[in-house]
Amino acid sequence: VNSSQKAGHVLVLAFPFGNHANPLLTLVCKLASAAPDVLFSFFNTEKSNASLFSKPKSEAIPDNIKPYNVPDALPKDYVMSGNPLEAVDIFLKPAPEMFKAGIDKAVAERSERRVSSLITDGFLVFGGEIAESLGIPWFPVWLPLAYTLSAHIYTDFIRQICAEEAIANGGNEDWRQHKRLEVIPGLSAMLIADVPDEVLPSESVFVNTLSKLGHVLLQPAAIVMNSYEELSSTPLNNDLKSKFRKVLNVGFLSLSLPLQPLPASNSDASGCLTWLDEQEASSSVAYISFGTVAAPPPHELIALAEALEESGMPFLWSLRDNMKQLLPDGFVERTNKQGKIVAWAPQAQVLGHASIGLFVTHCGCNSVYESIANGVPMICRPFFGDHRMTGRLIEEVWGIGVSIEGGVFTRSGVLKSFELILSNEEGKKMRGSARMLRDVLAEAAGPSGSAVEDFRTLVDLIISST
Ligand code: UDP
Repeated sequence: VNSSQKAGHVLVLAFPFGNHANPLLTLVCKLASAAPDVLFSFFNTEKSNASLFSKPKSEAIPDNIKPYNVPDALPKDYVMSGNPLEAVDIFLKPAPEMFKAGIDKAVAERSERRVSSLITDGFLVFGGEIAESLGIPWFPVWLPLAYTLSAHIYTDFIRQICAEEAIANGGNEDWRQHKRLEVIPGLSAMLIADVPDEVLPSESVFVNTLSKLGHVLLQPAAIVMNSYEELSSTPLNNDLKSKFRKVLNVGFLSLSLPLQPLPASNSDASGCLTWLDEQEASSSVAYISFGTVAAPPPHELIALAEALEESGMPFLWSLRDNMKQLLPDGFVERTNKQGKIVAWAPQAQVLGHASIGLFVTHCGCNSVYESIANGVPMICRPFFGDHRMTGRLIEEVWGIGVSIEGGVFTRSGVLKSFELILSNEEGKKMRGSARMLRDVLAEAAGPSGSAVEDFRTLVDLIISST
């Protein structure tokens, strides 16, 4: 029996919403290169797979990864209500059965290999049961920050705190803005108001799926974190280590450190980098992006646009086309020298450009990672999910940015935060802290850093289970 016959078959289940499937595939690509004899089957919706495995991106995907489509479960001609969680709920209800059917097909097709382990997005809490029924180890991958994992693990406890505070405060809800989670290791800076809605009670399938995280996530062979151990506080790291068999911080999946120049296959079609090259002063340009899902209400977009125009500051704005039409009349024409608006920017490279002075962000974890990796201070306008906790970390724990005044864009609030970051002593301090954090992570990502070691452990676990 040669070694390739002995090597196993790893099943990978993706969460096909937001920017989840992409970093998961990146991890699987790294594993597939490190364990070239092992086969990987990647289960995801047809739409998400089509974009991940499309050319020219697919050229970088190792041959031992094969995509398998699972249904998105949307009824034909279904019209969405506008609630982004709706499609998630519709998918999640039948997801365990849909994934199981996909697994049966792949196992039959690749029957010469023994199914050896299951890797899933950390949101797919039913992964534990599937792994158990197949008698294989489970490796959930947690993509948001470790701090939010902790909030999910302590869901029941946080709900209990909320219930007690609600009784103590009668109908007044102000306590949500003041009560900190001091009793939870690593979460002492977090307000109840920062906690993801998914941790609080709700009717949604998504929320109730996630509320089980605290119970089931504790079973896996190892939990894989899209992060560096150095990014979490010692109490948080210690608490997670005491709860899981293994916590493996394999580093940021969406970008490799040190940052790579833009690959030739992914040319700067919108000319963002060339435009930035033309900006004279270093650290002078504002970069603005709300990621792939978040959409500020029209009045906030207008306020932000007015503040940009009044500040006279050069800006690069990644704004989806459906939102561009909401900008004030004549704004695009009036600011065509001052700024550049594109539907998509090569963000990681943009943030690495010396001309960038600050990043106005929705606090999506990939965006924040890209900003941290480049030492760029942030102005935070969180929207949902993990954004608020991440914003709190940026402002209060890491000291590398500022929350927008009142939590929403107003003309004066935006102007104040520009001033603070670019002209004040405090802004200088933030820039210094951002660069320090960047250097700590560069070290962690280096050849003898913690992330490399944890990745190696993961590869060993995957290979030894085959
Ligand atoms: N992104 C990009 N160009 C854009 C807008 C976004 O490359 O113009 C990328 C960004 O670099 C990040 C991802 O899209 O890697 C967004 O992920 P994040 O977790 O920040 O937010 P989400 O879209 O999941 O809310």
